[in-house]
Amino acid sequence: MSYDTDNIFAKILRGDASSIKLYEDENTYVMMDIMPQYVGHTLVLTREPAATLFELSPEGAAACIRTAQKVAAAIDEALKPDGVVISQFNRAAAGQTVDHVHFHVIPRYQGQAMKPHGREMADRAELETTAEKIRAALARQ
Ligand code: AMP
Repeated sequence: MSYDTDNIFAKILRGDASSIKLYEDENTYVMMDIMPQYVGHTLVLTREPAATLFELSPEGAAACIRTAQKVAAAIDEALKPDGVVISQFNRAAAGQTVDHVHFHVIPRYQGQAMKPHGREMADRAELETTAEKIRAALARQ
């Protein structure tokens, strides 16, 4: 799939759009999902200009999984979920809505349903409060 340099995640990565950042390193960037499926839903972005996993380098894929593991552990400590989902969608038919490779990290609680994918905007203050808890857990690692 061709890469559109004007997709929203590309804009965030180059500083042309805002985000609630949790973590970054040379290869990845982590932020809160603004339409979370559950409180604590985060996104791990590759810095590579890759629309789907098929265009991402093996090194880029490895870096994303390393960061997803780190962030999932921080969410596990900070939010004490019963479980954590890590997912990644390729192309619209699979549910992909932003054509820049990213992994979802979503805390899950027994008996609590997830909201629909990318529909309902969260309250900014609530996102910031949750972000602060996850950042603190990342800092303790
Ligand atoms: P996907 O459908 O796998 O491509 O996931 C895209 C995700 O990005 C959805 O969960 C959206 O809620 C989320 N999203 C869209 N725009 C933004 C944004 N500007 N900042 C943070 N998350 C976003």
